[in-house]
Amino acid sequence: MAATPFLQAIAVSKTYLGTTVSGIKSTDLTISKGRITAIIGESGSGKSTLLKLLYGLLSPDTGEVLFKGERIWGPAEKLIPGHNAMKMVTQQTDDLNLYAKVWDNIALMLPHTDLKAEQEKIEKILVQLKMTALSDKQVVNLSGGEKQRVAIARALIGDPEILLLDEPFNQVDTSFREGLQQDIRQIVKDTGLTVIIVSHDPAEVLSMADELLVLKEGEILESGNPKTLYQNPQYLYTARLLTNCTVLTKEEAKICGLKTRANHIVIYPEWIETVKTWGGNNWEIKQVLFKGCYEDMLLERKGITIRVLNDQFGKYKEGKKINLKLKKWLEY
Ligand code: ADP
Ligand code: MG
Repeated sequence: MAATPFLQAIAVSKTYLGTTVSGIKSTDLTISKGRITAIIGESGSGKSTLLKLLYGLLSPDTGEVLFKGERIWGPAEKLIPGHNAMKMVTQQTDDLNLYAKVWDNIALMLPHTDLKAEQEKIEKILVQLKMTALSDKQVVNLSGGEKQRVAIARALIGDPEILLLDEPFNQVDTSFREGLQQDIRQIVKDTGLTVIIVSHDPAEVLSMADELLVLKEGEILESGNPKTLYQNPQYLYTARLLTNCTVLTKEEAKICGLKTRANHIVIYPEWIETVKTWGGNNWEIKQVLFKGCYEDMLLERKGITIRVLNDQFGKYKEGKKINLKLKKWLEY
């Protein structure tokens, strides 16, 4: 007999009243224990709806969600909505007590039966989330990223089996965001926590996720390992979500010397080699944008613009003409 899936949605759908198109269409999915699953999709594709269905904050119109084989109750069936073994963190950190200390905000989530054990637990989570120095600060004085850490500490202190994250790092600056992502990955490794994260940020999902689900208009378009999906997306939609790529029509591709039967050609910035040759330098460098560890170049030829990643700093100047070699492209 096959093992019972950890978290499973079976033919789950949810259409919002008064609309025919928005929500989640009949969806099947399985979430494995101890892994980070990321759900990516454009705004309005149903990411938050799907997360709420998995958590039990919304009742599905059809189908059911099973946690370890048992049906998850919807909000109408339960006094406090949301499954007890799960916790959700969103962009809103409204439920923090602004004028209490970080420590007390976390302690409030515990039952106060064994104070010593409670203290050890809080100390441990503060270390795991690198917040020990914040312990005595009032939440009101924290930065957005620090508040988000408190929210995550509060969610994790009760040892949930699943942590649901709905774009929680949107308001957090990049360096903070990456630190938090690493810490969450480490907690997953150390504790076997299961994380489901919703995001529209490719950098976030690609670096965090073990498994990626691509959502489009309420349906899972494709899913799999982030590296595989990045290198060989089955759909143009996925490529566009995961990287800032160049998409050419068949006609545009022809102008660039690429013959194809497909309707679209997709070229990732790192798949283009730039070369200076004696002849045939027919791409004009329109813009060179410094990005820290690389340059983003926009090249133009006959009205077609291509984005190229360049790590040879200062080699190319705006206004000059160069030649291109394509290492790889995708056809759709
Ligand atoms: P995402 O999180 O991917 O941006 P959502 O799950 O929030 O998408 O929303 C999916 C679609 O459902 C959107 O078109 C949104 O406008 C609509 N929607 C979300 N919540 C409601 C609601 N409570 N009532 C009506 N429509 C809603
Ligand atoms: Mg959302």
